[in-house]
Amino acid sequence: MNPIIKNLHEIQNELPEHVTLVAVSKTKPAEDIQTLYEAGHLDFGENKVQELVGKYDILPKDIRWHLIGHLQKNKVKYIAPFVHLIHSVDSEELLKEINKQAQKNNRMISCLLQIHIADEETKFGMEQEEAEDILKNYKIHYPNVEIIGLMGMATFTEDETQIRNEFKYLKSVFDKFKTQNAELKTLSMGMSGDYKIAIEEGSNMVRVGSLIFGVRNYY
Ligand SMILES: *Cc1c(COP(=O)(O)O)cnc(C)c1O
Repeated sequence: MNPIIKNLHEIQNELPEHVTLVAVSKTKPAEDIQTLYEAGHLDFGENKVQELVGKYDILPKDIRWHLIGHLQKNKVKYIAPFVHLIHSVDSEELLKEINKQAQKNNRMISCLLQIHIADEETKFGMEQEEAEDILKNYKIHYPNVEIIGLMGMATFTEDETQIRNEFKYLKSVFDKFKTQNAELKTLSMGMSGDYKIAIEEGSNMVRVGSLIFGVRNYY
């Protein structure tokens, strides 16, 4: 069997049923995506708009594309017609632009608010207070976006306790927000190195790249 199908099945088979696996295909060729698509997998994640659009153009149209990387406002228009879920909404300005482009395309766009949980400054995301403010008012101002959950990236460290605590924190924020916003259902946390910990701490969407496709040579 093709090794990437084997990798996908191995991960999929051990995931609890309520956890969605997003196969992170960034830097990998469209053929790899086609291979997994033919094996029945539909959810793929990319972190660069240009690469995402290029793959969208040539691959089957029922693939569910997840934008997982930092998104610049001026690029929202390129993915607005088709994107399935934007994981990386890190400012109200960006949400506003997503709403505008969703309106132009006469559709709703589902989003996750990215919360900063790592102790690295380099990682994107907002503080819980900002997310709380957005959740209170966004439906009136931005009727074409639906915030369906939160996303977070743990610190890149060997320290499992730290990773676990960061995920625990995000889960607690998620649970707190859910009491006010019943439509919050997706908690996107966990990558190749930490998805098992993330699931133990309440994740229901994991973004796994290198464990499926092999190591990347760049970004
Ligand atoms: C690249 C990336 C992943 C997947 O990383 P792996 O370690 O290869 O599983 C997940 N989430 C985001 C936001 C990424 O940029």
